Amino acid sequence: MFKINDIQKKFGSKSVLQGISTEFPEHQTTVIVGPSGSGKTTLLRSLDLLVQPDAGTLALDDLQVDFSRPVDKKTKNEFRDQTSMVFQNWNLFPNLTILQNITVAPIYVQKVPKEQAETQARALLKEVGLSDYADVYPQELSGGQQQRISICRALAVHPKYILLDEPTSALDPEMETQVLKMLEQLAGEGQSMIVVTHNMQFAKNAADKILFLEDGQLQFDGSCADFFAHPTPRVTNFLQGIS
Ligand code: ATP
Repeated sequence: MFKINDIQKKFGSKSVLQGISTEFPEHQTTVIVGPSGSGKTTLLRSLDLLVQPDAGTLALDDLQVDFSRPVDKKTKNEFRDQTSMVFQNWNLFPNLTILQNITVAPIYVQKVPKEQAETQARALLKEVGLSDYADVYPQELSGGQQQRISICRALAVHPKYILLDEPTSALDPEMETQVLKMLEQLAGEGQSMIVVTHNMQFAKNAADKILFLEDGQLQFDGSCADFFAHPTPRVTNFLQGIS
């Protein structure tokens, strides 16, 4: 189980996260939504220790992090063995082939034998219909293809949780559909995911749990069904504002 308790973060005098407590159930998809600037990305990056909150605790199974002290490197590494981040602009290594992009972490971080890592990477590529691109460089692929590769790269280290920060916001609608289909399939297979998105249709299709964040506070923390079937007045306004 992945839990956070009373996470707080200020940038200068601005309180961006004001005491967030929740849990992210395993084998489920938790979707974080909310207005622009509400703290979604800061929360997600805190979950991967890319941002150090000022206070609060985080627990992932036996691993405990207390943010009132600097997080040491060993804890960060142990923690990152269990999580994998997918960024808005995919961030593939431009000087590595697609196969190398997917195998670099398994081979050099997890010490998986090269042949085994490559076999697994080719299997992932086959699953997403991109086998033909194993030996080309990222710039030869469309944005949607590159984002699907970056999700393969995240999966290749067998993380317990995949964290995705607005994975489709840099894509045009057709490419967005390809990536969302892949994520919906992963959700259906029980991959534990935490996704920041503005795409409410995706939230409806794939989320088990929804967190609605506003001004650094959780205004809703519950099931996807409840979020859409029994929205609070504030959620209704939010949904009408973007759809
Ligand atoms: P969006 O939907 O627009 O991406 P968001 O909900 O993800 O927004 P965050 O990116 O978490 O919101 O930002 C929350 C607030 O914190 C914003 O006011 C933002 O300007 C501020 N902020 C985020 N990162 C930093 C930083 N590194 N330094 C200073 N302020 C920051």
